[in-house]
Amino acid sequence: MSNRKPIIAGNWKMNKNYQEALEFIQAVAAKVPSKDKVETAICAPALYLKDMVKEEGSNLRIGAQNVHFEANGAFTGEIAPAMLQDLGVTYVVIGHSERREMFCETDESVNKKTHAAHAAGLVPIVCCGESLEQRENGTTNQVVDAQIKRALEGLSLEQVKNTVIAYEPIWAIGTGLTATDEQANETIGYIRSVVGREHGQEAADAVRIQYGGSVKPSTVAGLMAQPEIDGALVGGASLDAESFLGLLEF
Ligand code: 13P
Repeated sequence: MSNRKPIIAGNWKMNKNYQEALEFIQAVAAKVPSKDKVETAICAPALYLKDMVKEEGSNLRIGAQNVHFEANGAFTGEIAPAMLQDLGVTYVVIGHSERREMFCETDESVNKKTHAAHAAGLVPIVCCGESLEQRENGTTNQVVDAQIKRALEGLSLEQVKNTVIAYEPIWAIGTGLTATDEQANETIGYIRSVVGREHGQEAADAVRIQYGGSVKPSTVAGLMAQPEIDGALVGGASLDAESFLGLLEF
């Protein structure tokens, strides 16, 4: 048994209006289980973060879905890590496959953003994962190896230990297809071995690695029972209050 604390996070992506976001947080904040048992977060659209932090209660934390790597300056439309930290935001999702595919996110920018998040006192949730084609041609391990090696390059041991990794096979995101519990466990175990190779056993033992991709309240327990899986990053099933709370019952 590892002593890594499980972490379940919702990634709302570009969903909900302001009113819906506040209603959700008011409905769930008091019902989230103790943070001694599980760390819980909602990663919401940037505009809502300030007001959601005010409502987060004692066991729920708020995360952003993206951040820029520079501290300030002429970067129109971007948000600096310290701006998030200043609002009381705890986590930031970095390198989600949707940002890699549609918004030119690269392994290099993921690395810079991961450094910048740590420097500002945010906990990065660094995403990796293979496409269907890569899964089918047997290169999954190579793909996540390169992504994670580069994402964590240059971090200190303490920073690696305080990073969350999300393994999200692209073919399982929003498709209703999930990796089997064993497939997810196997690839996450491989990712942990990459962390060990690059940063040492202490880092590998401490870093928390989530699975993401069509996780539902009905499937979360099977995933969480796997020894390498430390949590879940959940899109669709995190949008409804009852469903989100159901994800915490594993
Ligand atoms: P779904 O849970 O909707 O498949 O989304 C997964 C995801 O991309 C979370 O970041």
